[in-house]
Amino acid sequence: NTSKLPEVTNSIFSVMGQMAHAHNAINLSQGFPGFDTDPKLHALVTEAMASGHNQYAPMQGVYSLREQIALKLNTLYKSDYHPETEITVTVGATQAIYTAISAFVHVNDEVIVLKPAYDSYEPAILVNGGKVVPIQLKAPDYKVDWEIVKQAITPATKMLIINTPHNPTGTVLTKEDMLALQAILEGTNIILLSDEVYEHIVFDRIVHESVAKYPKLAERAFITASFGKTFHNTGWKMGYAAAPKHLMNEFQKVHQFAVFSVHHPTQKAFAHYLKTPNHYLELGAFYQRKRDLFLELIKESRFKMTPSSGTYFQLLDYSAITDEHDVAFAERLIKEKGIASIPTSVFNLDQEDFKMLRFCFAKTDETLEQAATILNAI
Ligand code: PMP
Ligand code: GLN
Repeated sequence: NTSKLPEVTNSIFSVMGQMAHAHNAINLSQGFPGFDTDPKLHALVTEAMASGHNQYAPMQGVYSLREQIALKLNTLYKSDYHPETEITVTVGATQAIYTAISAFVHVNDEVIVLKPAYDSYEPAILVNGGKVVPIQLKAPDYKVDWEIVKQAITPATKMLIINTPHNPTGTVLTKEDMLALQAILEGTNIILLSDEVYEHIVFDRIVHESVAKYPKLAERAFITASFGKTFHNTGWKMGYAAAPKHLMNEFQKVHQFAVFSVHHPTQKAFAHYLKTPNHYLELGAFYQRKRDLFLELIKESRFKMTPSSGTYFQLLDYSAITDEHDVAFAERLIKEKGIASIPTSVFNLDQEDFKMLRFCFAKTDETLEQAATILNAI
């Protein structure tokens, strides 16, 4: 067998997105905003092209953009990342995650993954010869039992991956979680990969606990981030990784040969745009209103729900409706009812337990209203 990833098939996001398209269904499956990015950003990209920023950017990213990223991390989290050596601009968070994993995970190294988990982590571990050590989080609150995580640590543990706010459950790690994590990692050489792509999308006055706020975690961590989630332009595929110099140095060794550098004009545009302070701070309120609208509209439906605390996803429990497996139910909803979601068993270890579908509420109010009409009739 020549396949390095024999078990891997097309990502559920592609599968459900294509099925939604084929059946002309309302698409709340793959996570992307149903509204456009700021026209000022379009203009800035065009301007950067017109003024000749059309050749390779520096390998690490445009310096003025790295400066803005470091400044943001410092303003929000009081961290001290140096733009010269500790930030790399990447092709979305996906590349940052893949690169961090491939720079450090050797054959037979163990990586602890909290399940449900975003679908890109495991293939990246496996293709590099690593072993996934899954830890199942349980509905309805998906709290991490750090004692269980501690017990999963062995001399072969190279990395631990966290994701807060969490896709697909919408849970957010607390200060207590971060301190517990800090305690169990103390004295180990484990690298922490903290996927924080939804850092600005938190609700109900919850504060995002970035690893950047905890020096003892940050000294061993990669933080990955995505402009797509923050500025409504997932198709631009731009993000970054932040890490201390000794870790970033290894990351850049892989980055420079996998990618070398990222789309230059878009980096110039973001460097300029990020100088307008604080626009990302409104994002939580913006999406909280969407979440509240969506939940209000479907409150009489037969779905059960715990409001999402962050991300632009809401899990709906359909156990009162049918016993069907979630993939079968999600497919039927597309074909028969005209609404697309993401079955969550694909992120999970314990598939039997899960009667949950994930819905993306980053959509216009009109789309959410149409979706609710369908969900209320199921
Ligand atoms: N991590 C998580 C948890 C995500 O939800 C996503 C995007 N859906 C990514 C990483 C990838 O981000 P990007 O699109 O910037 O590659
Ligand atoms: N992160 C998006 C989601 O969770 C999907 C991105 C992708 O399709 N790779 O829906």
